[in-house]
Amino acid sequence: MCTRYISRITEWAIVLSSSIDKDIYHMGFNVTMDREKCSGCEECLEICSAGVFEIQNGRAVPVNAKECIGCETCIEVCEQHAISIEETGIQLSDQCLTLLRDIL
Ligand code: SF4
Ligand code: SF4
Repeated sequence: MCTRYISRITEWAIVLSSSIDKDIYHMGFNVTMDREKCSGCEECLEICSAGVFEIQNGRAVPVNAKECIGCETCIEVCEQHAISIEETGIQLSDQCLTLLRDIL
């Protein structure tokens, strides 16, 4: 068991040291919609480089909000003022969270 933990901690350290300027963590954002305002024009889908939105039943839905980088471009293009972006704090990358869960 001890060998397993040492191995996983080593793996964690390698990821940490090689990812300092990469995606070991990122700022998280909450993407919320006012469905009543959304007209389904798809402007936000086309402009969002993170692929956050999908059209469901004629309205935009932030199905992939965890990928949001907070650029607020979607807010600028939405003529219906249907989108809100809120900073939620630092989030660890999926890879780091997986390693931490294995270690703890
Ligand atoms: S840009 Fe605004 S109105 Fe158009 S689909 Fe997106 S949220 Fe809806
Ligand atoms: S803030 Fe930027 S990344 Fe986030 S949903 Fe809007 S366009 Fe996409």
